[in-house]
Amino acid sequence: MSNQHHCKIVLVNTSHPGNIGATARAMKNMGLSSLTLVNPVDFPSGVSVGRAASALDVLEQADVVETLGEAIADCTLVIGSSARSRSLPWPMLTPEQTAAKIVTECQQAQVALVFGREDSGLNNEELQLCHYHVQIPASDQYRSLNLAAAVMVLCYEIRKAVLRDNEEPGCVEEEYWDQEKASIEQVEHFYDHLERVLVEIDFHDRDNPRQLMQRMRRLFGRIRIDAMELNILRGILTNIEHKIPGPDD
Ligand code: SAH
Repeated sequence: MSNQHHCKIVLVNTSHPGNIGATARAMKNMGLSSLTLVNPVDFPSGVSVGRAASALDVLEQADVVETLGEAIADCTLVIGSSARSRSLPWPMLTPEQTAAKIVTECQQAQVALVFGREDSGLNNEELQLCHYHVQIPASDQYRSLNLAAAVMVLCYEIRKAVLRDNEEPGCVEEEYWDQEKASIEQVEHFYDHLERVLVEIDFHDRDNPRQLMQRMRRLFGRIRIDAMELNILRGILTNIEHKIPGPDD
């Protein structure tokens, strides 16, 4: 079981209070609550309160400190997010690897995910306080995300990793779907029925099949139809059959 309270999001020297509020909201949406602000330019602010919406508790409980060193002093794993690679190559993680490491590590220890300034990111000294760097693989045309958007992307990766770990019920379609999936046997009967009707209405010619039934199989195979949906389709086919004039009509 992971412990997301042990994962703190650290924003360094943020200029825009709106980004602080939007970060709090993204964190709460994704199940995180521990926010540390390093030397924010404008905090507290009504703008961050507005952008936090129902994540006000995250803002109110945020720690405010002077330096990144203070913010991460109690952490055993620190990952810095950066839009560009720096002159000195550093161990890099993908967003997925970052989330997996954080979720594993925060079971016993404090971990931090660090974000830089809107205009200049994290400086070299700050980046070198981090064990790893993570880069979101954004477009070559424009690599730098809005700060709160970058927080959201990485918090969502953490969320996905937590859900995978906990295998929360309700995530796996088999667990929440209201109907059983149709069995192979039921679907085969449906294909027979469908083919029969398509022949009867002169849509399908068994002597010149043109892959029609293979394409129908591929279509229904892709959606993994459930037993109720299959019954409805069988009912529709039966009604169509009843409407087809017999030889004596
Ligand atoms: N112009 C700055 C970008 C700052 S964006 C620079 O070149 O570094 C503000 C912060 O959002 C960054 O410090 C980083 O923490 C995060 N961020 C933005 N885009 C990112 C990306 N593609 N990958 C990882 N982090 C990113």
